[in-house]
Amino acid sequence: MRAYSSFKEIVKLVKKANSIGLVPTMGSLHDGHLSIIKKALINDEIVIVSIFVNPKQFNDPRDLKKYPRNLKEDLEKLKVFNRIIVYAPNDTDVYNEEEDVKKYNLGEITKIMEGKLRPGHFDGVATIVEKLLSMFKPNNAYFGEKDFQQLLLIKELVRKIKLDVNIVGCTTIRESDGLAMSSRNKFLNKSDRESASQIIKLLERAKKMYKTSSAKDIKSDILKQANSIVNLKIEYFEIIDVSAFLRDKKEVRAFIACKIGNTRLIDNIRI
Ligand code: AMP
Repeated sequence: MRAYSSFKEIVKLVKKANSIGLVPTMGSLHDGHLSIIKKALINDEIVIVSIFVNPKQFNDPRDLKKYPRNLKEDLEKLKVFNRIIVYAPNDTDVYNEEEDVKKYNLGEITKIMEGKLRPGHFDGVATIVEKLLSMFKPNNAYFGEKDFQQLLLIKELVRKIKLDVNIVGCTTIRESDGLAMSSRNKFLNKSDRESASQIIKLLERAKKMYKTSSAKDIKSDILKQANSIVNLKIEYFEIIDVSAFLRDKKEVRAFIACKIGNTRLIDNIRI
């Protein structure tokens, strides 16, 4: 593992690589991130892991301020891997002074769920991802299904601006009780952590009901169930046929976003 804060240095280093993989992250690495990195290492000769808390995708400045940053520990976790180059820049290596987010028009996927509740978030995500893809020109770029709507957005972005990169979706890695790993989980106290473990139960209940019930009935049942979980406030629960967005296989997913205390968590599963 070698770490750099300047993308130009990395570009020089990887010029001769047969195949480059890119794993964008915001750091505070956990086993979810590491599983993506391991998958990338199987496919690509060199894997660039970016660690950058992208200010442009935070619609709430308080959320940006408190987002965990642990570069030293992150590098410690990555040092066991060969063939990894870490890109850990300052804002100035990525953005020009006063540079604004680009306004993308990526259609329906940006108007629902996260797109609806976090105005500007997806333009911020698309802006940084387009920058990273243009900097490093990877053959493959890896994104987690944990943020499934984001994965769909990136696929749409790449289609729309015709970038020559393969976008690879990676399975969600969970704690032993089913809670999806997230950098934000460390904000949960003991009781909130207990409530957070119920999120996957809600999604699995929806999956079970999907065989026999309508989406409307499932939604009202799940909202009722969620009401009885201590300190948990649902922001949305949706059942969405994502086949149209994926443009290939038939797939329906249940999506949830909630706040537990001040911590916002999202999750989804295929149903
Ligand atoms: P983040 O650092 O939260 O921006 O995440 C960086 C990448 O890791 C994104 O593509 C996420 O979807 C992915 N990711 C986050 N949590 C998990 C998880 N529990 N399992 C698999 N991938 C994840």
